Amino acid sequence: MKELKKINTIGIIGGGQLGMFLCLSAKKYNKKVYVYSDQEECSAKNYCDEFFFGKLEDFDSIEKFTKIVDVVTVETENIPPKTLDIIENYEKLTPSIDAIKISQNRLKEKNFINNLNKIKTTEFITLENFNDLLKAYDLFGKKVIIKSTEFGYDGKNQHKINSENLYTFKDFNFKNFIAEKVVDFVKEISVISCIDRFGNIEIFPPVENVHENNMLRDTRYPAALSEDIKNCAISYAIKIAKELSVIGILATEMFVLEDNSILINEIAPRPHNSGHWTLDCCDINQFDNVILAITNNKIKKPKILSGGLMINVIGEEYKEKNNIEEKYKFYDYFKKSIKPLRKMGHYTILKKLIP
Ligand code: AMP
Repeated sequence: MKELKKINTIGIIGGGQLGMFLCLSAKKYNKKVYVYSDQEECSAKNYCDEFFFGKLEDFDSIEKFTKIVDVVTVETENIPPKTLDIIENYEKLTPSIDAIKISQNRLKEKNFINNLNKIKTTEFITLENFNDLLKAYDLFGKKVIIKSTEFGYDGKNQHKINSENLYTFKDFNFKNFIAEKVVDFVKEISVISCIDRFGNIEIFPPVENVHENNMLRDTRYPAALSEDIKNCAISYAIKIAKELSVIGILATEMFVLEDNSILINEIAPRPHNSGHWTLDCCDINQFDNVILAITNNKIKKPKILSGGLMINVIGEEYKEKNNIEEKYKFYDYFKKSIKPLRKMGHYTILKKLIP
């Protein structure tokens, strides 16, 4: 094995709350962190050693940034491919160029996953025009959701189709949209896999997620699942992360169906909102394992100290911050303003594992 270089300075592309938590973990391990963001005011700005404001398509600035850090990681997968290529040219990109490029495009993501032995996503077809949507509506038993292939996080650029709104999509621009069958799942779950350069693999076990308005509302650990389903979810998550050569972490979101089968909804090669419970319930959290892996250290097996219910504080709910803080450890994302459906912070209600 090639001798691993010593990593002192980490570069992060993106400055949201995930970047902020990565900065906090980097400090724990005495690493410097430089953040590059296209948002001048953002959560990570006050937690990094140096802040760089610039467009993600400003290739010169990206190259300069890459040169002055030892490794680059991302807090979002929505990064222009050419920007990723520039960082990759310096052999500094983590978790891996494939993981980021595939997960930033739903079509590539679904094709990749469905080509893995025995792992399946929801059924889908690509769309070019309204006739294709009619076809999907018929094919999927009138249960259809259309999604843009890119930039579609937190329910953005997604529309549920029903008999009432179907024909309002007659003149819709379907370029880069797919139609997915709406799945009658019994549970949504996710698993976070962690991999380091020594080939160690650890997981943060399956958690149960509840979404509202297509956005994560809360996450619960432990998830009420049979051992078989748990093991199957873990094996899928690890398989996908390994196939993508991830160094760091990969979150895999899944649907559990009535017949106990599992479909993959989507993957994210970065810390994930459904992993925030690990900040309070584990001896090592998801951000710590990212920092350990990308600084060429061994990741750690998380020891779970408590059960928990992580609740996102969304939009106007932020006004309740003081009340929440009286009872729980509240994580403030220091967003500049309150906006509807904006994640403003979160907290976790700890639950005894054995009552
Ligand atoms: P996504 O951005 O694709 O993760 O979608 C956000 C949320 O919308 C998911 O976590 C589900 O709650 C819901 N959703 C998305 N796609 C489907 C689907 N095909 N069937 C049922 N629910 C879905």
